Amino acid sequence: MRAEGIPHPPSLRDIGEFGLIKRIARKAKRKDTSVLIGIGDDAAVLTPPISPLLRGGEGGVAPLLVTTDSLIEDVHFRRDYQPEAIGWKALAVNISDIAAMGGVPEHYLLSLGVPEGISIEYIDRFVRGMTEAAEEYGLSMIGGDTTSSPDKFYISVTVLGKGSETLLLRKGARAGDVIFVTGTLGDSALGLKILEDKKVSIWEDERFSTAQPLNRSTSQLINRHLRPTPRVKEGIQLAKTGMVTSMIDISDGLLCDLGHICEESRVGARVRIDELPLSQGFNTFSAKYGGIELALSGGEDYELLFTVRSKDVKSFMSMTEGTKYTPIGEVMKDRVIEVIGADGSRYLPKSSGYEHFRR
Ligand code: ADP
Ligand code: MG
Repeated sequence: MRAEGIPHPPSLRDIGEFGLIKRIARKAKRKDTSVLIGIGDDAAVLTPPISPLLRGGEGGVAPLLVTTDSLIEDVHFRRDYQPEAIGWKALAVNISDIAAMGGVPEHYLLSLGVPEGISIEYIDRFVRGMTEAAEEYGLSMIGGDTTSSPDKFYISVTVLGKGSETLLLRKGARAGDVIFVTGTLGDSALGLKILEDKKVSIWEDERFSTAQPLNRSTSQLINRHLRPTPRVKEGIQLAKTGMVTSMIDISDGLLCDLGHICEESRVGARVRIDELPLSQGFNTFSAKYGGIELALSGGEDYELLFTVRSKDVKSFMSMTEGTKYTPIGEVMKDRVIEVIGADGSRYLPKSSGYEHFRR
């Protein structure tokens, strides 16, 4: 037994996913002038090597964006999910990190750990879904790695992209900026709840089978979880406005990812529940599965969360008319995140989002 008062070494549970990342980053840190933005944002930004082949090109070279994300069986998906959807999602979540920098995704690498129980047909279907996403967003596969895996199906994707003139970082929000979000919030988390609750079988292409047939908006919510839409067009448009001061994609939940913007920008934020954009399906089905908490802390919407200087908001809104960008609150000097309920009083969320290792 450990004597009282003697500190014990921290566990993964104590430091959490983000603590672990910081620890690795600290130990691996070295000076390198080609790394413009290293660990800590949605993608790394590198100065591209100048090759003689490029000389005489169309002028300046764009910074190179690099990002990687993994999907692990039974952490991010179950093996009986439609393999096409797993393939789509593995690439889409990486594309989303490039979108979150205001960049253009161009190339990708795929690394797989394949357990014995997975068939060639399964991998074919997985690759079909992935190449559908690659086609849709214009990416070419340039390599990867394949190994056997003892038990679980393991997928790791790396995406390379081109940065625009204005890189949108997590850092840059200032007190008074207005906080915006693309699309709607909470649909993916709700889709996952419904998927688990109704024991939906999603093996068949595009069709879900359950004891009771699913209606259209339920299927749409499930699809938002299985086949997220990275906001590439929007990211590029937002970079072009020159009015966005910081940006991130929502992978771990609104409050968690807003927390990342606040931490990197050394500010706080206030969001109003009343103003959160919610889909019709969300309004119809969320009550049974956690209500507004799903929109505040549910992960994997892959919408963009960004800030705009308050003096620019008017021209920003008219410049981007026709695109669904919703103001949901503002940046504050005090480094706390406040949620304001529908009645105007302070709302205390049950959870602040998803973090691996923490329970
Ligand atoms: P996202 O949700 O956008 O994928 P993450 O929380 O996974 O962001 O990563 C945040 C930052 O930490 C990124 O810069 C990423 O490259 C870096 N990172 C994550 N895990 C590791 C690791 N094991 N080693 C080094 N850097 C890491
Ligand atoms: Mg990641």
